Amino acid sequence: MARYGRTRGEGRVCTFCDKPERVVRHLISGPPGIYICDACVELCNQIIRLDKNKGAGAEGAVGTATAAKPQSAASVAQSIKTLPTPAEIKVKLDEYVVGQDKTKKSLAVAVNLHYKRILNPIPANEVELEKSNILLIGPTGSGKTLLARTLAKILNVPFAIGDATTLTEAGYVGEDVENLLLKLIHAANYNLDRAERGIVFIDEIDKIGRTQNNPSITRDVSGEGVQQGLLKMLEGTISNVPPQGGRKHPEQEYIQINTRHILFLGGGSFEALPGIIARRIGKKQIGFKLDNDQIDDKNIGDLLEKVEPEDLIEFGMIPEFVGRFPVICVCRPLSLEQLVRVLTEPKNAIVRQYQEFFRMENSTLVFTDEALKEIARRGLEKQTGARALRSTIEQMMLDVLFDLPGQKDASEFVISGEMAKGKEPIVPKKRVEAKIEKSEKAAEKEKEKEKKKESA
Ligand code: ADP
Repeated sequence: MARYGRTRGEGRVCTFCDKPERVVRHLISGPPGIYICDACVELCNQIIRLDKNKGAGAEGAVGTATAAKPQSAASVAQSIKTLPTPAEIKVKLDEYVVGQDKTKKSLAVAVNLHYKRILNPIPANEVELEKSNILLIGPTGSGKTLLARTLAKILNVPFAIGDATTLTEAGYVGEDVENLLLKLIHAANYNLDRAERGIVFIDEIDKIGRTQNNPSITRDVSGEGVQQGLLKMLEGTISNVPPQGGRKHPEQEYIQINTRHILFLGGGSFEALPGIIARRIGKKQIGFKLDNDQIDDKNIGDLLEKVEPEDLIEFGMIPEFVGRFPVICVCRPLSLEQLVRVLTEPKNAIVRQYQEFFRMENSTLVFTDEALKEIARRGLEKQTGARALRSTIEQMMLDVLFDLPGQKDASEFVISGEMAKGKEPIVPKKRVEAKIEKSEKAAEKEKEKEKKKESA
């Protein structure tokens, strides 16, 4: 093995990876001339953890059920009993996600079936339930990632999010598709049994569309290649994952993971898709015509719900890739009223979080209906769905959040519509009342003056 560090006069080098001392954080010495760097120690730890976890029991609704292999008929029945029903999944989703009712139902059914299939392996020669990865399409900030994340929480399975735009076809600079699986292995704390039943959400899946339909030149190079690269993983294969991420290279050790039972969810906004669907429908229905500029938030949802695999192929996805996602769910753009609900209703709603923060400072915070509507209206203007809500509130409350922690007195804040519009400063209610009192007194004085003038 070439010791490039030594030969170039770099002094001590890691015996395992050859990195010179100056580029590593720690270099631990062993017998004379033998050293190991912190990164290699971490890698060794990962390998040891993996060995320990192999075959170890997994926790959680889905994990527990699948830990013992092979399972008896009784244990399978018990496992399926503990698996949440579609109705239970939907109720839980409702706690976190506003609207998207139809999608929540479809997801609940698909996910329940997916885990039932894992828990109840069907002997060869019998009807095989196919793996059903799910494609979530809909505008930015409509809750696609939130739905996927919440599903993993409900089922207590490891969850990983990856961005399709960071992936590249083998041979190009970027990440290998296996990096998605590495994230899942991390999320499962190196318990492969759990990781193999986890959920992977691949975001921005529409950005790996084929050349002619994709405006970005850099992605065109490998968009289709990345789709190809993902095919096997989506379908179910034994993947070789490099434990340190990045690019694979021949000499390294791999973590082998079976993707057969991993549920893949692809998410994307597919912006040009409503137009493609409208054109297809237009061709079939005489008298139906919809121009691109006639497509607005109201009909985007209706159009997307009519999506067919052929539309996705026209969009730029390759047929084999579309075929790996038998379930397509649509997230509709959120309305003003739904955005107001996003602010206040979910368990971890932004307004609730802010109120908690104010409570920690012995203060209270209330948003009037007008203020909530104003925040939601600004969110709609930005066209990023619920995504803009947090930043809008953050900007609005910046000064208060800056001053509040230093104040000794308890304050009561009531955010009015005018305050939300920035037309009035955000001050505690007491001071607002004082201001009103003042102005009322001033008005009374004016009246008295006028009366005096009149009588004179
Ligand atoms: P995307 O559809 O782009 O994946 P996300 O799920 O990442 O959107 O949502 C962005 C932010 O908006 C998150 O903070 C999420 O909590 C919130 N959000 C989006 N849609 C909803 C929804 N339907 N209900 C509740 N919160 C939502």
